[in-house]
Amino acid sequence: MRFADVIGNKTAADALLTMADSGRVAHAMLFYENEGCGALPLALAYIQYLNCSNPHDGDSCGECPSCRQMAKLVHPDVHFVFPVNKGPKTSDDKPTSESYIKYWRELVLANPYFKEADLQKAIGIESKSGLIAVAEARHIISRLSLTAVADGYKAVIFYLPEKMNQETANRLLKMVEEPPEKTVFIFITHAPEKVLQTIFSRCQSLRVLPLSKDEIAAVRAMAPKEDREEYDRFMELFSDLMNSIVSRDLYAALECGEQVASLESREKQKGFCTFAGECIRKIFMLQQKLQQIADIPEEEEAFYSAMADKCGKKFCSKTITNIEKVSYMIDRNVNSKILFCDLVNRMFLSV
Ligand SMILES: [Zn+2]
Repeated sequence: MRFADVIGNKTAADALLTMADSGRVAHAMLFYENEGCGALPLALAYIQYLNCSNPHDGDSCGECPSCRQMAKLVHPDVHFVFPVNKGPKTSDDKPTSESYIKYWRELVLANPYFKEADLQKAIGIESKSGLIAVAEARHIISRLSLTAVADGYKAVIFYLPEKMNQETANRLLKMVEEPPEKTVFIFITHAPEKVLQTIFSRCQSLRVLPLSKDEIAAVRAMAPKEDREEYDRFMELFSDLMNSIVSRDLYAALECGEQVASLESREKQKGFCTFAGECIRKIFMLQQKLQQIADIPEEEEAFYSAMADKCGKKFCSKTITNIEKVSYMIDRNVNSKILFCDLVNRMFLSV
Protein backbone atom coordinates (compact mmCIF):
# COMPACT_ATOMS: atom_id res chain seq x y z
CA MET A 1 0.00 0.00 0.00
CA ARG A 2 1.28 3.47 -0.89
CA PHE A 3 0.63 6.60 1.18
CA ALA A 4 -1.44 7.80 -1.77
CA ASP A 5 -3.87 4.91 -1.13
CA VAL A 6 -4.38 5.75 2.56
CA ILE A 7 -7.67 7.50 3.24
CA GLY A 8 -7.25 10.70 5.29
CA ASN A 9 -4.65 11.12 8.03
CA LYS A 10 -2.38 13.33 5.96
CA THR A 11 -0.72 14.78 9.07
CA ALA A 12 0.21 11.37 10.44
CA ALA A 13 1.49 10.28 7.02
CA ASP A 14 3.63 13.43 6.78
CA ALA A 15 5.07 12.80 10.25
CA LEU A 16 6.04 9.26 9.22
CA LEU A 17 7.58 10.47 5.96
CA THR A 18 9.62 13.10 7.77
CA MET A 19 10.85 10.48 10.17
CA ALA A 20 11.82 8.06 7.41
CA ASP A 21 13.53 10.77 5.33
CA SER A 22 15.51 12.07 8.27
CA GLY A 23 16.89 8.61 8.94
CA ARG A 24 15.77 8.81 12.58
CA VAL A 25 13.41 5.87 12.41
CA ALA A 26 11.87 5.06 15.80
CA HIS A 27 12.34 1.38 16.51
CA ALA A 28 9.06 1.08 18.40
CA MET A 29 5.93 3.06 17.67
CA LEU A 30 2.41 2.90 19.05
CA PHE A 31 -0.33 4.02 16.67
CA TYR A 32 -3.58 4.62 18.46
CA GLU A 33 -6.87 5.05 16.73
CA ASN A 34 -10.59 4.65 17.07
CA GLU A 35 -11.35 1.34 15.44
CA GLY A 36 -11.41 1.46 11.64
CA CYS A 37 -9.69 4.85 11.20
CA GLY A 38 -6.78 3.53 9.17
CA ALA A 39 -3.82 2.88 11.50
CA LEU A 40 -3.08 -0.38 9.69
CA PRO A 41 -3.02 1.14 6.16
CA LEU A 42 -0.72 3.86 7.52
CA ALA A 43 1.60 1.29 9.05
CA LEU A 44 1.66 -0.70 5.81
CA ALA A 45 2.39 2.41 3.73
CA TYR A 46 5.15 3.43 6.13
CA ILE A 47 6.93 0.05 6.09
CA GLN A 48 6.54 -0.12 2.32
CA TYR A 49 8.15 3.32 2.05
CA LEU A 50 11.02 2.37 4.36
CA ASN A 51 11.80 -0.70 2.27
CA CYS A 52 11.14 0.72 -1.19
CA SER A 53 14.19 0.73 -3.44
CA ASN A 54 13.00 3.70 -5.47
CA PRO A 55 10.91 6.06 -3.33
CA HIS A 56 10.02 9.36 -4.95
CA ASP A 57 7.65 12.31 -4.51
CA GLY A 58 6.97 11.44 -0.90
CA ASP A 59 5.79 7.90 -1.56
CA SER A 60 6.99 4.40 -2.32
CA CYS A 61 7.24 3.46 -5.98
CA GLY A 62 4.72 0.62 -5.87
CA GLU A 63 6.71 -1.26 -8.50
CA CYS A 64 10.01 -2.50 -7.06
CA PRO A 65 10.22 -6.11 -5.78
CA SER A 66 9.83 -4.97 -2.16
CA CYS A 67 6.73 -2.89 -2.94
CA ARG A 68 5.22 -5.78 -4.86
CA GLN A 69 5.80 -8.15 -1.94
CA MET A 70 4.28 -5.60 0.44
CA ALA A 71 1.25 -5.23 -1.81
CA LYS A 72 0.56 -8.95 -1.35
CA LEU A 73 1.58 -8.94 2.33
CA VAL A 74 4.25 -11.54 1.62
CA HIS A 75 7.40 -9.51 2.27
CA PRO A 76 9.76 -11.99 4.00
CA ASP A 77 10.98 -9.42 6.56
CA VAL A 78 7.58 -8.07 7.55
CA HIS A 79 5.70 -9.98 10.20
CA PHE A 80 2.18 -9.64 11.54
CA VAL A 81 0.96 -10.37 15.04
CA PHE A 82 -2.72 -10.27 15.96
CA PRO A 83 -4.93 -11.83 18.66
CA VAL A 84 -5.88 -15.44 18.02
CA ASN A 85 -7.40 -18.43 19.75
CA LYS A 86 -8.03 -22.07 19.00
CA GLY A 87 -10.65 -22.59 16.34
CA PRO A 88 -11.88 -24.71 13.47
CA LYS A 89 -9.60 -23.04 10.91
CA THR A 90 -6.38 -24.38 12.41
CA SER A 91 -5.29 -27.69 13.85
CA ASP A 92 -2.57 -26.02 15.94
CA ASP A 93 -3.01 -26.65 19.62
CA LYS A 94 -1.24 -23.41 20.53
CA PRO A 95 -2.04 -21.27 17.52
CA THR A 96 -0.08 -18.14 16.70
CA SER A 97 -0.77 -15.49 14.08
CA GLU A 98 1.21 -17.64 11.67
CA SER A 99 -1.47 -20.35 11.97
CA TYR A 100 -3.99 -17.89 10.51
CA ILE A 101 -1.78 -15.82 8.23
CA LYS A 102 -3.64 -16.88 5.09
CA TYR A 103 -6.94 -15.53 6.47
CA TRP A 104 -5.25 -12.37 7.76
CA ARG A 105 -3.89 -11.64 4.27
CA GLU A 106 -7.29 -12.20 2.67
CA LEU A 107 -8.93 -9.88 5.17
CA VAL A 108 -6.37 -7.07 4.96
CA LEU A 109 -6.18 -7.22 1.17
CA ALA A 110 -9.98 -7.07 0.87
CA ASN A 111 -10.35 -4.17 3.29
CA PRO A 112 -7.52 -2.86 5.49
CA TYR A 113 -10.07 -0.77 7.43
CA PHE A 114 -11.62 -3.89 8.97
CA LYS A 115 -12.73 -3.98 12.60
CA GLU A 116 -11.75 -6.37 15.33
CA ALA A 117 -14.99 -8.34 14.93
CA ASP A 118 -14.19 -8.80 11.21
CA LEU A 119 -10.84 -10.29 12.15
CA GLN A 120 -12.45 -12.73 14.58
CA LYS A 121 -14.91 -13.75 11.89
CA ALA A 122 -12.15 -14.12 9.29
CA ILE A 123 -10.15 -16.50 11.45
CA GLY A 124 -13.22 -18.35 12.71
CA ILE A 125 -13.09 -17.47 16.41
CA GLU A 126 -16.25 -15.33 16.66
CA SER A 127 -17.33 -16.88 19.92
CA LYS A 128 -13.95 -16.54 21.66
CA SER A 129 -11.68 -13.73 22.71
CA GLY A 130 -8.47 -13.36 20.78
CA LEU A 131 -5.23 -13.33 22.77
CA ILE A 132 -1.58 -12.71 22.06
CA ALA A 133 0.03 -15.52 23.98
CA VAL A 134 3.61 -16.30 24.88
CA ALA A 135 4.04 -18.69 21.95
CA GLU A 136 3.69 -15.62 19.75
CA ALA A 137 6.54 -13.83 21.51
CA ARG A 138 8.79 -16.85 21.08
CA HIS A 139 7.92 -17.03 17.39
CA ILE A 140 8.60 -13.33 16.76
CA ILE A 141 11.88 -13.37 18.67
CA SER A 142 13.13 -16.29 16.61
CA ARG A 143 12.05 -14.65 13.34
CA LEU A 144 13.73 -11.36 14.21
CA SER A 145 16.93 -13.09 15.26
CA LEU A 146 17.41 -14.28 11.70
CA THR A 147 19.24 -12.06 9.25
CA ALA A 148 16.96 -10.00 7.05
CA VAL A 149 16.23 -11.60 3.70
CA ALA A 150 16.36 -8.28 1.86
CA ASP A 151 18.62 -5.42 2.93
CA GLY A 152 15.87 -3.12 4.19
CA TYR A 153 14.07 -3.00 7.50
CA LYS A 154 12.66 -5.93 9.38
CA ALA A 155 9.26 -5.01 10.75
CA VAL A 156 6.61 -6.39 13.04
CA ILE A 157 3.12 -4.96 12.85
CA PHE A 158 1.50 -5.81 16.13
CA TYR A 159 -2.28 -5.46 15.92
CA LEU A 160 -3.96 -4.90 19.31
CA PRO A 161 -1.13 -5.18 21.84
CA GLU A 162 -3.79 -4.69 24.54
CA LYS A 163 -4.60 -8.39 24.01
CA MET A 164 -1.15 -9.40 25.16
CA ASN A 165 -0.65 -10.80 28.64
CA GLN A 166 2.17 -9.95 31.03
CA GLU A 167 4.16 -13.08 30.24
CA THR A 168 4.15 -12.29 26.51
CA ALA A 169 5.12 -8.68 27.17
CA ASN A 170 7.98 -9.76 29.43
CA ARG A 171 9.31 -12.04 26.74
CA LEU A 172 9.17 -9.32 24.12
CA LEU A 173 10.41 -6.48 26.22
CA LYS A 174 14.12 -6.84 25.63
CA MET A 175 13.55 -7.15 21.91
CA VAL A 176 11.44 -3.98 21.87
CA GLU A 177 13.96 -2.16 24.04
CA GLU A 178 17.05 -3.18 22.12
CA PRO A 179 15.92 -4.50 18.78
CA PRO A 180 18.37 -5.90 16.26
CA GLU A 181 19.62 -3.31 13.82
CA LYS A 182 17.09 -1.94 11.31
CA THR A 183 14.11 -3.46 13.04
CA VAL A 184 10.84 -1.62 13.54
CA PHE A 185 7.94 -2.52 15.81
CA ILE A 186 4.60 -0.91 15.15
CA PHE A 187 1.89 -1.51 17.70
CA ILE A 188 -1.66 -0.61 16.70
CA THR A 189 -4.06 -0.12 19.57
CA HIS A 190 -7.69 0.86 20.06
CA ALA A 191 -7.27 1.13 23.82
CA PRO A 192 -3.90 2.71 24.74
CA GLU A 193 -4.88 2.70 28.41
CA LYS A 194 -4.97 -1.12 28.31
CA VAL A 195 -1.55 -1.56 26.70
CA LEU A 196 0.90 -2.81 29.31
CA GLN A 197 2.91 0.10 30.62
CA THR A 198 6.20 -1.69 30.06
CA ILE A 199 5.52 -1.77 26.32
CA PHE A 200 3.75 1.60 26.10
CA SER A 201 6.57 3.49 27.73
CA ARG A 202 9.08 2.23 25.18
CA CYS A 203 7.13 3.40 22.16
CA GLN A 204 6.93 6.68 20.37
CA SER A 205 3.22 7.30 19.97
CA LEU A 206 1.29 8.53 17.00
CA ARG A 207 -2.37 9.51 17.18
CA VAL A 208 -4.30 8.38 14.13
CA LEU A 209 -7.17 10.83 13.92
CA PRO A 210 -10.82 10.07 13.28
CA LEU A 211 -11.86 10.37 9.67
CA SER A 212 -13.95 13.13 8.14
CA LYS A 213 -17.47 12.38 6.90
CA ASP A 214 -16.34 11.92 3.30
CA GLU A 215 -13.51 9.67 4.42
CA ILE A 216 -15.87 7.57 6.54
CA ALA A 217 -18.09 7.17 3.50
CA ALA A 218 -15.09 6.07 1.43
CA VAL A 219 -14.11 3.50 4.07
CA ARG A 220 -17.66 2.19 4.36
CA ALA A 221 -17.84 1.76 0.59
CA MET A 222 -14.84 -0.60 0.83
CA ALA A 223 -16.61 -2.98 3.20
CA PRO A 224 -17.94 -6.21 1.65
CA LYS A 225 -21.63 -6.07 0.66
CA GLU A 226 -22.79 -8.48 3.38
CA ASP A 227 -21.10 -6.32 6.05
CA ARG A 228 -22.90 -3.24 4.79
CA GLU A 229 -26.19 -5.13 4.84
CA GLU A 230 -25.56 -6.20 8.41
CA TYR A 231 -24.69 -2.62 9.35
CA ASP A 232 -27.99 -1.37 7.91
CA ARG A 233 -29.92 -4.10 9.66
CA PHE A 234 -28.29 -3.42 13.05
CA MET A 235 -28.68 0.32 12.63
CA GLU A 236 -32.37 -0.07 11.96
CA LEU A 237 -32.81 -2.29 15.01
CA PHE A 238 -30.82 0.05 17.22
CA SER A 239 -32.64 3.19 16.08
CA ASP A 240 -36.04 1.52 16.50
CA LEU A 241 -35.03 0.48 20.00
CA MET A 242 -33.77 3.92 21.01
CA ASN A 243 -36.73 5.72 19.46
CA SER A 244 -39.16 3.47 21.39
CA ILE A 245 -37.25 4.06 24.61
CA VAL A 246 -37.13 7.86 24.38
CA SER A 247 -40.77 8.01 23.33
CA ARG A 248 -41.58 5.90 26.43
CA ASP A 249 -43.14 3.03 24.49
CA LEU A 250 -42.06 0.04 26.56
CA TYR A 251 -44.04 -2.44 24.51
CA ALA A 252 -42.33 -1.40 21.24
CA ALA A 253 -38.92 -1.38 22.97
CA LEU A 254 -39.43 -4.93 24.25
CA GLU A 255 -40.39 -6.00 20.76
CA CYS A 256 -37.05 -4.69 19.50
CA GLY A 257 -35.35 -6.69 22.26
CA GLU A 258 -37.20 -9.81 21.06
CA GLN A 259 -35.96 -9.20 17.53
CA VAL A 260 -32.37 -9.00 18.70
CA ALA A 261 -32.81 -12.16 20.76
CA SER A 262 -34.06 -13.96 17.67
CA LEU A 263 -31.05 -13.03 15.50
CA GLU A 264 -29.92 -16.29 13.92
CA SER A 265 -26.87 -17.04 16.07
CA ARG A 266 -25.20 -16.13 19.32
CA GLU A 267 -22.38 -14.58 17.29
CA LYS A 268 -24.89 -12.27 15.61
CA GLN A 269 -26.40 -11.37 18.98
CA LYS A 270 -22.94 -10.55 20.29
CA GLY A 271 -22.25 -8.66 17.09
CA PHE A 272 -25.31 -6.56 17.80
CA CYS A 273 -24.05 -5.91 21.34
CA THR A 274 -20.73 -4.62 19.97
CA PHE A 275 -22.57 -2.51 17.43
CA ALA A 276 -24.95 -1.07 20.03
CA GLY A 277 -22.00 -0.34 22.33
CA GLU A 278 -20.38 1.71 19.57
CA CYS A 279 -23.63 3.58 18.92
CA ILE A 280 -24.00 4.42 22.60
CA ARG A 281 -20.41 5.65 22.60
CA LYS A 282 -21.36 8.05 19.80
CA ILE A 283 -24.27 9.39 21.84
CA PHE A 284 -21.92 9.85 24.78
CA MET A 285 -19.38 11.71 22.61
CA LEU A 286 -22.08 14.11 21.45
CA GLN A 287 -23.20 14.71 25.02
CA GLN A 288 -19.60 15.57 25.86
CA LYS A 289 -19.47 17.98 22.88
CA LEU A 290 -16.85 15.82 21.19
CA GLN A 291 -18.67 15.44 17.87
CA GLN A 292 -15.43 15.88 15.93
CA ILE A 293 -14.18 12.51 17.18
CA ALA A 294 -17.51 10.68 17.22
CA ASP A 295 -17.22 9.27 13.66
CA ILE A 296 -20.87 9.85 12.82
CA PRO A 297 -21.91 9.44 9.17
CA GLU A 298 -23.84 12.40 7.82
CA GLU A 299 -27.11 10.52 7.33
CA GLU A 300 -27.12 9.51 11.02
CA GLU A 301 -26.38 12.95 12.48
CA ALA A 302 -30.00 13.90 13.14
CA PHE A 303 -30.67 10.62 14.94
CA TYR A 304 -27.62 10.85 17.19
CA SER A 305 -28.10 14.48 18.12
CA ALA A 306 -31.75 13.79 19.04
CA MET A 307 -30.61 10.88 21.23
CA ALA A 308 -27.88 12.95 22.87
CA ASP A 309 -30.53 15.53 23.81
CA LYS A 310 -33.10 13.05 25.08
CA CYS A 311 -30.89 10.63 27.05
CA GLY A 312 -29.86 11.48 30.58
CA LYS A 313 -26.30 12.02 31.72
CA LYS A 314 -25.76 8.57 33.20
CA PHE A 315 -27.60 6.62 30.51
CA CYS A 316 -24.58 5.95 28.31
CA SER A 317 -22.18 4.69 30.94
CA LYS A 318 -24.86 2.49 32.57
CA THR A 319 -25.97 1.09 29.23
CA ILE A 320 -22.45 0.29 28.05
CA THR A 321 -21.85 -1.65 31.27
CA ASN A 322 -25.16 -3.49 30.82
CA ILE A 323 -24.42 -4.33 27.19
CA GLU A 324 -21.02 -5.72 28.14
CA LYS A 325 -22.69 -7.93 30.75
CA VAL A 326 -25.17 -9.25 28.19
CA SER A 327 -22.37 -10.03 25.76
CA TYR A 328 -20.55 -11.93 28.51
CA MET A 329 -23.68 -13.86 29.48
CA ILE A 330 -24.40 -14.86 25.87
CA ASP A 331 -21.08 -16.69 25.90
CA ARG A 332 -22.25 -18.52 28.98
CA ASN A 333 -25.35 -19.79 27.21
CA VAL A 334 -27.84 -17.77 29.25
CA ASN A 335 -31.22 -17.56 27.54
CA SER A 336 -30.98 -14.63 25.16
CA LYS A 337 -34.67 -13.70 25.36
CA ILE A 338 -34.29 -13.11 29.07
CA LEU A 339 -31.00 -11.23 28.61
CA PHE A 340 -32.29 -8.80 26.00
CA CYS A 341 -35.63 -8.31 27.76
CA ASP A 342 -33.70 -7.37 30.90
CA LEU A 343 -31.35 -5.10 28.94
CA VAL A 344 -34.22 -3.23 27.31
CA ASN A 345 -35.90 -2.81 30.68
CA ARG A 346 -32.76 -1.39 32.21
CA MET A 347 -32.27 0.99 29.29
CA PHE A 348 -35.90 2.05 29.57
CA LEU A 349 -35.50 2.80 33.28
CA SER A 350 -32.19 4.65 33.04
CA VAL A 351 -32.88 6.93 30.09
ZN1 LIG B 1 9.18 0.46 -4.32
